Amino acid sequence: MLKGKTALVTGSTSGIGLGIAKALARQGANIVLNGFGDVEGPKAEIAALGVKVGYHGADMSKPADIEAMMHYVAETFGRTDILVNNAGIQHVAPIEDFPPERWDAVIAINLSSAFHTTRLALPAMKAANWGRIINVASVHGLVASVQKAAYVAAKHGIVGLTKVTALENATTGITCNAICPGWVLTPLVQKQVDARAAAMGVGNEEAKKQLLAEKEPSLQFTTPEELGELAVFFCSEAAKNVRGVAWNMDGGWAAQ
Ligand code: NAD
Repeated sequence: MLKGKTALVTGSTSGIGLGIAKALARQGANIVLNGFGDVEGPKAEIAALGVKVGYHGADMSKPADIEAMMHYVAETFGRTDILVNNAGIQHVAPIEDFPPERWDAVIAINLSSAFHTTRLALPAMKAANWGRIINVASVHGLVASVQKAAYVAAKHGIVGLTKVTALENATTGITCNAICPGWVLTPLVQKQVDARAAAMGVGNEEAKKQLLAEKEPSLQFTTPEELGELAVFFCSEAAKNVRGVAWNMDGGWAAQ
Protein backbone atom coordinates (compact mmCIF):
# COMPACT_ATOMS: atom_id res chain seq x y z
CA MET A 1 0.00 0.00 0.00
CA LEU A 2 2.86 2.43 0.75
CA LYS A 3 5.41 1.18 -1.77
CA GLY A 4 7.52 4.05 -3.11
CA LYS A 5 6.70 6.30 -0.14
CA THR A 6 9.24 7.37 2.47
CA ALA A 7 8.35 7.62 6.14
CA LEU A 8 10.45 9.56 8.63
CA VAL A 9 9.70 8.43 12.17
CA THR A 10 11.34 10.48 14.90
CA GLY A 11 12.40 8.67 18.06
CA SER A 12 12.15 5.31 16.35
CA THR A 13 15.08 3.38 17.82
CA SER A 14 12.75 2.04 20.51
CA GLY A 15 9.18 1.69 21.75
CA ILE A 16 6.22 3.14 19.89
CA GLY A 17 8.31 4.79 17.14
CA LEU A 18 9.92 1.49 16.22
CA GLY A 19 6.50 -0.23 16.27
CA ILE A 20 5.09 2.37 13.88
CA ALA A 21 8.19 2.23 11.65
CA LYS A 22 7.84 -1.57 11.34
CA ALA A 23 4.10 -1.35 10.57
CA LEU A 24 4.74 1.22 7.80
CA ALA A 25 7.64 -0.87 6.44
CA ARG A 26 5.34 -3.91 6.28
CA GLN A 27 3.17 -1.81 3.92
CA GLY A 28 6.23 -1.20 1.71
CA ALA A 29 7.31 2.29 2.87
CA ASN A 30 11.01 3.10 2.99
CA ILE A 31 11.91 4.17 6.51
CA VAL A 32 14.18 6.81 8.00
CA LEU A 33 14.89 6.08 11.64
CA ASN A 34 15.93 8.64 14.25
CA GLY A 35 16.77 8.41 17.93
CA PHE A 36 19.46 7.40 20.38
CA GLY A 37 20.83 4.11 21.71
CA ASP A 38 21.13 0.96 19.58
CA VAL A 39 20.69 1.90 15.92
CA GLU A 40 21.99 -1.21 14.13
CA GLY A 41 19.36 -3.55 15.69
CA PRO A 42 16.34 -1.44 14.61
CA LYS A 43 17.93 -0.82 11.16
CA ALA A 44 18.32 -4.58 10.65
CA GLU A 45 14.71 -5.23 11.76
CA ILE A 46 13.41 -2.75 9.16
CA ALA A 47 15.75 -3.95 6.39
CA ALA A 48 14.49 -7.51 7.00
CA LEU A 49 11.06 -6.30 5.89
CA GLY A 50 12.46 -5.67 2.40
CA VAL A 51 12.44 -1.86 2.29
CA LYS A 52 15.19 0.75 2.19
CA VAL A 53 16.22 2.06 5.58
CA GLY A 54 18.10 5.22 6.54
CA TYR A 55 19.03 6.80 9.84
CA HIS A 56 19.74 10.30 11.08
CA GLY A 57 20.85 10.96 14.64
CA ALA A 58 19.35 14.46 14.98
CA ASP A 59 18.76 15.57 18.54
CA MET A 60 15.13 16.64 18.43
CA SER A 61 15.75 19.40 20.96
CA LYS A 62 17.97 21.17 18.38
CA PRO A 63 16.34 22.96 15.41
CA ALA A 64 19.63 22.95 13.43
CA ASP A 65 19.87 19.15 13.81
CA ILE A 66 16.26 18.82 12.67
CA GLU A 67 17.01 20.89 9.54
CA ALA A 68 20.00 18.65 8.78
CA MET A 69 17.79 15.55 9.17
CA MET A 70 15.13 16.90 6.81
CA HIS A 71 17.85 17.69 4.21
CA TYR A 72 19.23 14.17 4.64
CA VAL A 73 15.79 12.62 3.94
CA ALA A 74 15.25 14.84 0.88
CA GLU A 75 18.70 14.11 -0.54
CA THR A 76 18.67 10.37 0.18
CA PHE A 77 15.02 9.47 -0.46
CA GLY A 78 13.62 12.40 -2.48
CA ARG A 79 11.02 13.58 -0.01
CA THR A 80 9.33 12.90 3.34
CA ASP A 81 5.93 11.53 2.29
CA ILE A 82 4.94 10.36 5.76
CA LEU A 83 6.12 12.24 8.82
CA VAL A 84 5.60 10.63 12.21
CA ASN A 85 6.44 13.01 15.04
CA ASN A 86 7.01 10.54 17.83
CA ALA A 87 10.17 11.43 19.80
CA GLY A 88 9.31 12.21 23.38
CA ILE A 89 10.58 12.26 26.94
CA GLN A 90 8.92 12.45 30.34
CA HIS A 91 9.76 14.14 33.63
CA VAL A 92 7.65 13.65 36.73
CA ALA A 93 7.63 16.27 39.53
CA PRO A 94 5.24 18.73 41.16
CA ILE A 95 5.26 22.15 39.49
CA GLU A 96 7.10 23.94 42.30
CA ASP A 97 9.93 21.36 42.13
CA PHE A 98 9.94 20.99 38.33
CA PRO A 99 13.46 21.83 37.10
CA PRO A 100 13.13 24.62 34.48
CA GLU A 101 15.68 22.91 32.22
CA ARG A 102 13.54 19.72 32.19
CA TRP A 103 10.49 21.85 31.30
CA ASP A 104 12.45 23.33 28.37
CA ALA A 105 13.66 19.90 27.23
CA VAL A 106 10.18 18.33 27.32
CA ILE A 107 8.63 21.24 25.40
CA ALA A 108 11.47 21.21 22.84
CA ILE A 109 11.43 17.46 22.18
CA ASN A 110 7.71 16.67 22.62
CA LEU A 111 6.28 19.79 20.94
CA SER A 112 8.64 22.21 19.18
CA SER A 113 10.40 19.45 17.23
CA ALA A 114 7.08 18.61 15.54
CA PHE A 115 6.65 22.24 14.49
CA HIS A 116 10.12 22.20 12.91
CA THR A 117 9.75 18.87 11.07
CA THR A 118 6.27 19.84 9.87
CA ARG A 119 7.27 23.28 8.55
CA LEU A 120 10.21 21.70 6.73
CA ALA A 121 8.28 18.72 5.32
CA LEU A 122 5.23 20.61 4.05
CA PRO A 123 6.64 22.33 0.92
CA ALA A 124 7.55 19.02 -0.79
CA MET A 125 4.30 17.39 0.36
CA LYS A 126 2.39 20.32 -1.14
CA ALA A 127 4.30 20.02 -4.42
CA ALA A 128 3.32 16.32 -4.56
CA ASN A 129 -0.20 17.02 -3.24
CA TRP A 130 0.18 14.01 -0.95
CA GLY A 131 1.36 13.68 2.60
CA ARG A 132 0.56 12.14 5.93
CA ILE A 133 1.60 13.79 9.18
CA ILE A 134 0.99 11.73 12.29
CA ASN A 135 1.70 13.26 15.67
CA VAL A 136 2.15 10.83 18.53
CA ALA A 137 0.51 12.80 21.30
CA SER A 138 -0.91 10.94 24.31
CA VAL A 139 -4.06 10.57 26.33
CA HIS A 140 -2.27 13.39 28.18
CA GLY A 141 -3.07 15.52 25.13
CA LEU A 142 -6.73 15.18 26.17
CA VAL A 143 -6.69 14.96 29.97
CA ALA A 144 -4.18 15.76 32.70
CA SER A 145 -2.40 13.91 35.49
CA VAL A 146 -0.56 15.36 38.46
CA GLN A 147 3.23 15.88 38.33
CA LYS A 148 3.39 15.94 34.53
CA ALA A 149 3.11 19.69 33.88
CA ALA A 150 5.54 19.87 30.96
CA TYR A 151 4.39 16.61 29.36
CA VAL A 152 0.67 17.45 29.59
CA ALA A 153 1.31 20.99 28.30
CA ALA A 154 3.38 19.68 25.38
CA LYS A 155 0.86 16.96 24.51
CA HIS A 156 -2.12 19.35 24.62
CA GLY A 157 0.03 21.65 22.46
CA ILE A 158 0.72 18.99 19.85
CA VAL A 159 -3.00 18.20 19.61
CA GLY A 160 -3.50 21.91 18.83
CA LEU A 161 -0.69 21.87 16.27
CA THR A 162 -2.32 18.79 14.69
CA LYS A 163 -5.59 20.68 14.19
CA VAL A 164 -3.90 23.76 12.69
CA THR A 165 -1.80 21.61 10.33
CA ALA A 166 -4.93 19.72 9.26
CA LEU A 167 -6.90 22.92 8.66
CA GLU A 168 -4.17 24.71 6.71
CA ASN A 169 -4.00 21.73 4.32
CA ALA A 170 -7.64 20.70 4.35
CA THR A 171 -8.16 21.15 0.60
CA THR A 172 -5.00 19.20 -0.28
CA GLY A 173 -3.92 15.57 -0.25
CA ILE A 174 -2.05 16.18 3.00
CA THR A 175 -3.67 15.05 6.24
CA CYS A 176 -2.52 15.52 9.81
CA ASN A 177 -3.83 13.53 12.75
CA ALA A 178 -2.75 12.68 16.28
CA ILE A 179 -2.56 9.35 18.07
CA CYS A 180 -3.23 9.44 21.81
CA PRO A 181 -2.06 6.26 23.54
CA GLY A 182 -2.75 5.35 27.14
CA TRP A 183 -0.11 3.23 28.90
CA VAL A 184 2.29 1.43 26.54
CA LEU A 185 4.98 -0.68 28.18
CA THR A 186 8.06 0.96 26.65
CA PRO A 187 11.30 2.10 28.35
CA LEU A 188 9.61 5.49 28.98
CA VAL A 189 6.88 3.84 31.06
CA GLN A 190 9.09 1.15 32.61
CA LYS A 191 10.89 4.01 34.41
CA GLN A 192 7.56 5.02 35.96
CA VAL A 193 6.83 1.38 36.87
CA ASP A 194 10.26 1.17 38.54
CA ALA A 195 9.64 4.41 40.46
CA ARG A 196 6.28 3.11 41.69
CA ALA A 197 7.77 -0.26 42.68
CA ALA A 198 10.44 1.52 44.72
CA ALA A 199 8.00 4.00 46.30
CA MET A 200 5.39 1.38 47.25
CA GLY A 201 7.84 -1.40 48.13
CA VAL A 202 6.22 -3.78 45.61
CA GLY A 203 7.50 -5.91 42.73
CA ASN A 204 7.50 -5.09 39.01
CA GLU A 205 4.27 -7.00 38.21
CA GLU A 206 2.34 -5.46 41.11
CA ALA A 207 3.58 -1.96 40.15
CA LYS A 208 2.35 -2.51 36.55
CA LYS A 209 -1.05 -3.66 37.84
CA GLN A 210 -1.35 -0.59 40.08
CA LEU A 211 -0.35 1.76 37.26
CA LEU A 212 -3.04 0.31 34.97
CA ALA A 213 -5.72 0.14 37.67
CA GLU A 214 -5.29 3.83 38.48
CA LYS A 215 -6.06 5.11 34.96
CA GLU A 216 -6.79 2.48 32.33
CA PRO A 217 -10.22 0.73 32.63
CA SER A 218 -9.21 -2.12 30.28
CA LEU A 219 -6.35 -2.98 32.67
CA GLN A 220 -4.28 -3.65 29.55
CA PHE A 221 -1.28 -1.93 28.01
CA THR A 222 -1.69 -0.77 24.40
CA THR A 223 1.11 -2.21 22.24
CA PRO A 224 3.42 -0.52 19.72
CA GLU A 225 2.06 -3.00 17.14
CA GLU A 226 -1.53 -1.82 17.70
CA LEU A 227 -0.44 1.81 17.40
CA GLY A 228 1.43 0.90 14.21
CA GLU A 229 -1.79 -0.41 12.68
CA LEU A 230 -3.57 2.87 13.53
CA ALA A 231 -0.75 4.78 11.80
CA VAL A 232 -1.17 2.52 8.74
CA PHE A 233 -4.88 3.38 8.68
CA PHE A 234 -4.12 7.13 8.77
CA CYS A 235 -1.81 6.58 5.76
CA SER A 236 -4.45 4.70 3.77
CA GLU A 237 -6.66 6.06 0.98
CA ALA A 238 -9.70 5.29 3.15
CA ALA A 239 -8.44 7.84 5.68
CA LYS A 240 -7.91 10.65 3.18
CA ASN A 241 -10.68 12.73 4.73
CA VAL A 242 -9.74 12.02 8.34
CA ARG A 243 -8.31 15.41 9.29
CA GLY A 244 -7.30 16.91 12.59
CA VAL A 245 -8.46 14.12 14.89
CA ALA A 246 -6.87 13.17 18.19
CA TRP A 247 -7.58 9.43 18.27
CA ASN A 248 -7.12 7.81 21.61
CA MET A 249 -6.13 4.16 21.98
CA ASP A 250 -6.19 4.16 25.74
CA GLY A 251 -8.30 1.30 27.09
CA GLY A 252 -11.07 3.76 28.00
CA TRP A 253 -8.85 6.16 30.01
CA ALA A 254 -10.30 9.37 28.51
CA ALA A 255 -13.87 8.04 28.52
CA GLN A 256 -14.06 8.31 32.32
P1 NAD B 1 10.80 5.38 24.36
O1 NAD B 1 11.60 5.98 25.46
O2 NAD B 1 10.72 3.90 24.21
O3 NAD B 1 11.25 5.97 22.96
C1 NAD B 1 11.54 7.31 22.79
C2 NAD B 1 12.32 7.46 21.52
O4 NAD B 1 12.65 8.86 21.38
C3 NAD B 1 13.65 6.71 21.53
O5 NAD B 1 13.92 6.25 20.23
C4 NAD B 1 14.65 7.78 21.94
O6 NAD B 1 15.97 7.51 21.49
C5 NAD B 1 14.06 8.98 21.22
N1 NAD B 1 14.48 10.25 21.74
C6 NAD B 1 14.45 10.69 23.03
N2 NAD B 1 14.97 11.93 23.09
C7 NAD B 1 15.33 12.27 21.83
C8 NAD B 1 15.93 13.41 21.25
N3 NAD B 1 16.27 14.46 21.99
N4 NAD B 1 16.16 13.40 19.94
C9 NAD B 1 15.84 12.33 19.16
N5 NAD B 1 15.27 11.23 19.66
C10 NAD B 1 15.02 11.20 20.98
O7 NAD B 1 9.34 6.03 24.54
P2 NAD B 1 7.91 5.66 23.94
O8 NAD B 1 7.06 5.27 25.10
O9 NAD B 1 8.02 4.76 22.77
O10 NAD B 1 7.42 7.10 23.51
C11 NAD B 1 7.29 7.49 22.17
C12 NAD B 1 6.24 8.59 22.11
O11 NAD B 1 4.99 8.08 22.55
C13 NAD B 1 6.55 9.80 22.99
O12 NAD B 1 6.18 10.99 22.32
C14 NAD B 1 5.65 9.57 24.20
O13 NAD B 1 5.31 10.78 24.84
C15 NAD B 1 4.45 8.94 23.52
N6 NAD B 1 3.58 8.20 24.42
C16 NAD B 1 4.04 7.13 25.14
C17 NAD B 1 3.18 6.45 25.98
C18 NAD B 1 3.61 5.26 26.77
O14 NAD B 1 2.82 4.80 27.62
N7 NAD B 1 4.79 4.70 26.55
C19 NAD B 1 1.86 6.87 26.10
C20 NAD B 1 1.43 7.96 25.38
C21 NAD B 1 2.30 8.61 24.53
